[in-house]
Amino acid sequence: MSRHLGLDVGGTNLKWAVVERDREPRLLKTGRLPTDTAGGEQSVVRQLLVVARTVFSDIEGIESVGVGMPGVLDPDAGVTRFIPNIPGDWDGVHVTRAMTDAIGHPVRLINDARAFTLAEHGLGAGRGATSMLGITLGTGVGGGLILDGHLYFGHEGTAGEFGHQTILPDGPRCNCGNHGCLEALARADAIAAACGQPGVEEAVAAARSGDHRAQQGLRDAGRYLGIGASNVIVLLSVDRVVIGGGVAAAGDMLLDPIQQELERRVHVTDVSRIKVVCGELGIWAGAIGAALHGSSPVPSHAPLPDPTGQAR
Ligand SMILES: [Zn+2]
Repeated sequence: MSRHLGLDVGGTNLKWAVVERDREPRLLKTGRLPTDTAGGEQSVVRQLLVVARTVFSDIEGIESVGVGMPGVLDPDAGVTRFIPNIPGDWDGVHVTRAMTDAIGHPVRLINDARAFTLAEHGLGAGRGATSMLGITLGTGVGGGLILDGHLYFGHEGTAGEFGHQTILPDGPRCNCGNHGCLEALARADAIAAACGQPGVEEAVAAARSGDHRAQQGLRDAGRYLGIGASNVIVLLSVDRVVIGGGVAAAGDMLLDPIQQELERRVHVTDVSRIKVVCGELGIWAGAIGAALHGSSPVPSHAPLPDPTGQAR
């Protein structure tokens, strides 16, 4: 049995979770506090260290730390590149190096949607799936891929960017610079606008109470998401699709059009075997996934241990 801490940093909240790994991983404890963004990236990094130290002193036997953050980052180098939704200058910040030195345990960094995917696969709605597409719907549209039982990272951890595939060739401009990305069509504010509502919560409530424009807006978003998921299934033949994030609260109003789109578009594999479901871990998925990432062995493309058997 081993214990691992995961920290999930968002623009508003910093959540943490301790996961116990035996044969099956198990959630031991969670907590959350407002993210300290007063001093930009410096205060966020400092706060991560303070929270980690506090949890280490409260809970015995923690062996590793994982940090999940929204945006572009290099997980092997532990360096952030572009974190648009947390105040600060995040280009080139070594998040893990200072923490590893101060805590004396390995610290690893991961994108928040990849962390969600790891968590739902390990402890949530993706349990038992050999391959899985994880989708996070919120301020942006994130994603992650489990292939043959393992999270697939690709070059510098950039694989799985589900939201940046082109759906409409001449569609609206996306924050990434492309036009017609899925994210530009199905992120929270785009869905809210299509539904004629100020936010996505209001859009879901309006659709539930029978507002036709809101219902159509959610159906369209589900359709775009379904086209995106169809592309992934045709290419990778995943067993399961797990959807999380705030917008997933729309439930069947989103899942039904996604399912219909899969049936319409996927003809190279049996669609009835593919389950499309909402995540089970709620707001803790990111922190749990970060803990799992921190606990996993270093990737095989990292420098190998000294051949004499000495640890690096
Ligand atoms: Zn994009």
